[in-house]
Amino acid sequence: MNQVRVRFAPSPTGYLHVGGARTALFNYLYAKQNQGVFVLRIEDTDLVRSTDASTQAILDAMKYLGLDWDEGPEKGGDYGPYFQSQRLELYQQYADKLLASGRAYQCFCTPEELDQIRQEAVEQKRDPKYDGRCRNLTEAQRQELIRQGRKPVVRFKADYDGTTLVDDLIRGKVTFDNNQLDDFVIIKSDGMPTYNFAVVIDDALMAITHVIRGEDHLSNTPKQIQIYEALGFSVPQFAHIPMILGPDRTRLSKRHGATSVGQFQEEGYLAEAMVNYLALLGWSFDDSQTLFSKNELIEKFTLAKVSKNPAVFDLAKLQWMNGVYIRELSLDELYEQTLPLFQGWGFVPTEVSSELVGKVRSVLKILQERIKVLSELREVSYYFFQDELHYDEKAVRKVLGKEGAVEILSTLLPELLSVTDYTQENLEPIFRKAQEQHQRKLADIIQPVRVAVTGTNVSPGIYDVLAILGRARTCQRIKDTLALIKSRQEGSLGV
Ligand code: GLU
Repeated sequence: MNQVRVRFAPSPTGYLHVGGARTALFNYLYAKQNQGVFVLRIEDTDLVRSTDASTQAILDAMKYLGLDWDEGPEKGGDYGPYFQSQRLELYQQYADKLLASGRAYQCFCTPEELDQIRQEAVEQKRDPKYDGRCRNLTEAQRQELIRQGRKPVVRFKADYDGTTLVDDLIRGKVTFDNNQLDDFVIIKSDGMPTYNFAVVIDDALMAITHVIRGEDHLSNTPKQIQIYEALGFSVPQFAHIPMILGPDRTRLSKRHGATSVGQFQEEGYLAEAMVNYLALLGWSFDDSQTLFSKNELIEKFTLAKVSKNPAVFDLAKLQWMNGVYIRELSLDELYEQTLPLFQGWGFVPTEVSSELVGKVRSVLKILQERIKVLSELREVSYYFFQDELHYDEKAVRKVLGKEGAVEILSTLLPELLSVTDYTQENLEPIFRKAQEQHQRKLADIIQPVRVAVTGTNVSPGIYDVLAILGRARTCQRIKDTLALIKSRQEGSLGV
């Protein structure tokens, strides 16, 4: 059997979206599993909408996910160029072949004429298809139209008889009636190929054996098969993977929140979690296993187990999974992944002193279990790094509004100021002592301090928090909070 060659063929008209990334992943897994070749081809024939920035964003997102391609941009390969815009001569050459063999013809219809054809079809309740009126132009007529300055497109002479069978590895045998087809354009009047034409020429010349792509292209497949056959190319195997829907079961789009892979990366999703989650969008191994390393996916992925039904993108599940992967990181790995974030937020400078390294690591250690997305760290750790505290009003009212809060904070303050070593072990007895003194539950002693130093009533263990904050910051915040309560009471606003 021939070596497996698959491709991912994004159009660089935007960022890499979750759906595209999932298509890329399935191709990657299939290639790796079969010791095949994974080709990346940039379909940039839409000159207006294609941008270099988008190509770069796609390459970056693929690298972040670790979907290394074997041939393509930056890599080269024997089947290049890998940008469609650099392959225009090839498309022209094959269009000429079809023109010469009579399977294509020049069409000179103006947009107005095409509009009219469409309207007439609609009025007569027919499919609005091109009626083939330029199919049989005589050479003289052609010359005359060219003389008039009309710029022709090239249309494929479709075969309207019978049916075209798409034997799809996921969807099974799907039969299309050829009378649904029309003589579709393969080369536009500006000389650019259309998608359906370029994709066939490229897949054939790049010796692609399996076309794994989104189901939205299933309906294009009969047209493509007719071109393969007209040119005597062998037809690859097709595998159309199901669409991805939002929770409201409409096609996943920006309306549903982040959909670009780059955005997930920025928000602090780990590549391992993204890859694992994307693999489950339309594929499953069995009913029980949800966590898969990339190597496990390479081993276990099969097209046969890809579902025909659409997959629903479940952000909560992705977040859960990301949390699982975050907890699996070693402290060193977590530090490495998050240091740039802390620097970006201005929590730590570019040059990190060893003392600060220690502090960041301590913060990470107590927060690792508590976050699902790395970017959450900003909100739950800023108070370790920045002076200004943002009080959560609800927590202030609930905790500092309670009777005794001022007294509790006032008893603790001098103790915290004077304790010899400001460590977890030394701090705990201070709280126990205050508990006895005030005859309250330990939580009643801890909560006012928690709100005073973190601004909220939820945080990691208080002794850890205080030890990392250090004496000066803790005591300053308690003083500030006492002053805040006082000023509010004086203003009789209540706390
Ligand atoms: N450029 C096409 C797209 O992004 C590729 C489709 C295909 O894989 O054939 O939809």
